[in-house]
Amino acid sequence: MSISQLARSIKQSPTLKLNETAARLREKGEPVIHLGGGEPKSKAPIDAVVNCATQLNTGDVKYAPADGITDLKKAIIRYMEDHYHHVVSPNQVVVSSGAKQSIMILLYALLEPKDEVIFPAPYWVSYPEMVKLAGGVPVVVTPEDGSFQPTVEEVAEVIGSYTKAVIVNSPNNPCGVMYSKDFIAEMVTLCEKKGLYLVMDDLYNRLVFDGKTAPNCYEFARAKSDRSKLVVVQGVSKMYAMTGFRIGWAIVNPEVAEAMTNIQSHQTSGPATPSQWAAVGALNGVQSTIESLRLTLENNRNVMVRRLQAIEGIKLNKPDGTFYCFPDFSAFERDSQKLAEFLLEKVRVVTVPGKEFGMEGHLRLSFCGTMKDCLEGVERIQWALDASAPNELYLGERKLVRDWL
Ligand code: PMP
Repeated sequence: MSISQLARSIKQSPTLKLNETAARLREKGEPVIHLGGGEPKSKAPIDAVVNCATQLNTGDVKYAPADGITDLKKAIIRYMEDHYHHVVSPNQVVVSSGAKQSIMILLYALLEPKDEVIFPAPYWVSYPEMVKLAGGVPVVVTPEDGSFQPTVEEVAEVIGSYTKAVIVNSPNNPCGVMYSKDFIAEMVTLCEKKGLYLVMDDLYNRLVFDGKTAPNCYEFARAKSDRSKLVVVQGVSKMYAMTGFRIGWAIVNPEVAEAMTNIQSHQTSGPATPSQWAAVGALNGVQSTIESLRLTLENNRNVMVRRLQAIEGIKLNKPDGTFYCFPDFSAFERDSQKLAEFLLEKVRVVTVPGKEFGMEGHLRLSFCGTMKDCLEGVERIQWALDASAPNELYLGERKLVRDWL
């Protein structure tokens, strides 16, 4: 078969694959605990559902403009004013079918062949593949000190003549760390000085704990003109628990916005209109769902972190936000793929290998499920790895006997 060289260089999304594996095992009646997920379990806000349903009832569902419907752009502009204190014009907003598509078309719009895009590790699994799809070269910066907090010097060191953009995702998927205000400020300044695009993937910036708030990149930007190279990527997937609606957006200068819109117009056309109506409902509706999700996640994080810290050998940075933590399991097994497979096989817990995020020895554990899943998942992991735990464990009716330690 003649699969293109490009396609052969692209890996399957490991997180989507894990969802499939977990669903298959569950269908067979296996007592799987899914700590690999990337979506909150709560329902979409009622205002999203009602606005979508009301308009759907008319039966009038037609193509949307390639860059999004006017009502949604208006709602996004208001969101940007409320939460970033940043005034945006409609020609700076491109609505896409998920933030994933926002980033993808942005890269298509920006990259020449072999242009480099820098991002820190651990990184969201899709960045390297997206950069490659757009013909670019991913350049990873791995913080030396194990803190997950890169320094500006570490980023500056890898900037070269081919560098086109830097992607910063904070709070970060997979480690939950929120980069410091100083780091964001210095990154904005550095990218302005070097003429680079700075892409702020802010998808999780409302899901932050311990009374903290995410730094606002626009506060530090000097170039406020129509030619600014600062890009903010946002979406409804995480903060409103609306992953299935597939709505994200980018705020970007008008020239790039137009290029992205042209690309999208040939790729998928405008995002599905019912999803856009739902997003309008969410953005214009009662906002308390975000706070209640945030509180639930903070509670889950506290419990999961406490449990993990009780396992001797595990090293853990307490997440500042998101719904992931990224413990270091290398005292037990350095090969994260092997460890994830072992945990799935032995105790039916789904995790994501750190290797996929550019960091071996770690596993990504999600705390976006139920509290029961968080507790039981970590309990099973502990049982599988800790020689001092009792030799037997019950998964429902099934008795497991540990014969590997
Ligand atoms: N960026 C990050 C860091 C993410 O974790 C995700 C989803 N997992 C996305 C972007 C894409 O989100 P969506 O396409 O669902 O809007």
